[in-house]
Amino acid sequence: MRLGLVIDLDTCVGCHACAVACKEWNTSGTTGALTDYQPYGAKPSGVWFNRIRHYEIGDYPHNKTINFPMSCMHCENAECVTVCPTGASYKRAEDGIVLVDQSKCMGCNYCSWACPYGARELDRASGTMKKCTLCIDRIYDMEIPEEERQPACVLTCPAHARMFGDFDDPESPVSRAVRERGGYQLMPELNYNPSNHYLPPRVHAPIDTERMRQKGLRAVKDWIHRAVER
Ligand code: SF4
Ligand code: SF4
Repeated sequence: MRLGLVIDLDTCVGCHACAVACKEWNTSGTTGALTDYQPYGAKPSGVWFNRIRHYEIGDYPHNKTINFPMSCMHCENAECVTVCPTGASYKRAEDGIVLVDQSKCMGCNYCSWACPYGARELDRASGTMKKCTLCIDRIYDMEIPEEERQPACVLTCPAHARMFGDFDDPESPVSRAVRERGGYQLMPELNYNPSNHYLPPRVHAPIDTERMRQKGLRAVKDWIHRAVER
């Protein structure tokens, strides 16, 4: 089994609901509190497993905002695991989830330097590294109704831009979505083979703004002519 996320960049509206739901769930979950520094101060910051980046592509008037959620990619060849000197960072053989054993981590930062996706965060309060756990304590919790055994970010996304599933099953919804929509991995050239995939934004025909402008001017002129004739 190879568990991971698919994120649809065509429908993600950048609302940050996934990041907030992630923080809320995981603050009371497996890895303990995700600390906030100066939460009510001038420069609040803190530990987040999931962050949304925003990019502007194209030139006005054919520009577009791309919202890009990023968390741990749960790579097959996870360098964060290879470089960890204490064995705190590890990958589960049964489902491919990459985790940090908080009792072994000494906060040396090697894993964060090795991770090209910026998935690792040093919690200055605990002195340990923290990262997305794929909500391991939700997805295997038999007390939770089956349809809710999904990561908090997936359940909360109002745009249904996130999917969770098994990439080893070619007929799973995540595998089909990647196949049918041209889903891709980030930085495949590194050969880390991340589990998470992104679905690209659909290409829309550009709006002919010059024609619209001319049409608009003509409409105003026609209205003036009609008003003068009366
Ligand atoms: S909750 Fe969904 S729509 Fe909102 S930022 Fe996250 S992925 Fe995008
Ligand atoms: S899978 Fe869970 S821990 Fe990972 S980003 Fe989503 S909510 Fe956060």
